[in-house]
Amino acid sequence: MQNAPDLEFVALTKSYGDTIAVDSIGYHFAAGTYACLLGPSGCGKSSTLRMVAGHETVSNGSILLGGRDISHLPPAKRGTAMMFQNYALFPHLSVIDNVAFSLKMKGVDRATRLGHAAEMLDLVDMSDYAQRLPSMLSGGQQQRVALARALITKPQVLLLDEPLSALDPFLRIRMRAELKRLQRELGITFIHVTHGQDEALALADEIVVMNNAKIEQAGKTRQVFEAPATAFVARFLGSHNVISLPGGPVAVRSDALQLGVPEGARMQGKITNIEYQGTHVALTAAVAGDQDVTALLPDKVFFDAPKDLGEAVGLYWEDQAAHALSA
Ligand code: ADP
Ligand code: MG
Repeated sequence: MQNAPDLEFVALTKSYGDTIAVDSIGYHFAAGTYACLLGPSGCGKSSTLRMVAGHETVSNGSILLGGRDISHLPPAKRGTAMMFQNYALFPHLSVIDNVAFSLKMKGVDRATRLGHAAEMLDLVDMSDYAQRLPSMLSGGQQQRVALARALITKPQVLLLDEPLSALDPFLRIRMRAELKRLQRELGITFIHVTHGQDEALALADEIVVMNNAKIEQAGKTRQVFEAPATAFVARFLGSHNVISLPGGPVAVRSDALQLGVPEGARMQGKITNIEYQGTHVALTAAVAGDQDVTALLPDKVFFDAPKDLGEAVGLYWEDQAAHALSA
């Protein structure tokens, strides 16, 4: 395992003309962590990642790797490597030559670079495809090659911009397990950009939720999920209801809501949607103040006492299930 350094953003800022894409963000990534930058399209994730890679200039602030300011170093001198969304493989080069390419640029002799490339292909389980052209590979296989190509430079930080978005859902889940395994084996920091909350929850040790060029909340994944600080984070992570109460808005997980008789309930509502999800059934009720609230019931709980559309229900939750949100 390599000795992975810490990565730190200090008041990191990116502007394109009048557009502020990244607005003075600060965060310290623990060494050897799997971190996800999560947020809606346009919130500044890719700009952040490209600044770390050195493919975009830093407008203000800095990026420290192991305490060293890398903000203005050329990409190849930073100790980072990027895996692109579209893989960007050279179509006319074989798999092994694609992987060896950056070593060729560095002037490494052919035998040595092919040896390293073969090791990398082994790491991503693609040794059998070394002589093929990229066009003869499936999407998942191309992705493995792109990974091998990024890892051959022995980066301390691997940057991945929506690496799974081009794959079908089944392969996406398989490849995310592969990414996690690789990160664990290599012990280096992965910074993975995604707009998918499932993907972030499945992969990340640390999660950085971005909104409008700023970090809305960041920390250990489970801590963020268990205690979203704002309505935006609660909604974006999913599986939470944001409910306005007289004391202010709270987040209540949909699996912490129970349905019962309207009398004596915390809130009353009418069922507007029933969605069967196999292991669970999601029931949505419209409650006072034009709010929708969703309860996720285990299938057995639902089918033991089924509810109908339009039925009046009461919503119940334990005190400790509600987290106060800041505006
Ligand atoms: P994300 O990856 O979260 O979707 P981006 O970092 O790509 O977000 O974009 C953040 C903001 O910066 C958006 O408003 C986008 O339109 C703008 N932006 C991104 N790249 C450029 C560019 N090269 N020139 C001008 N504006 C850009
Ligand atoms: Mg992007």
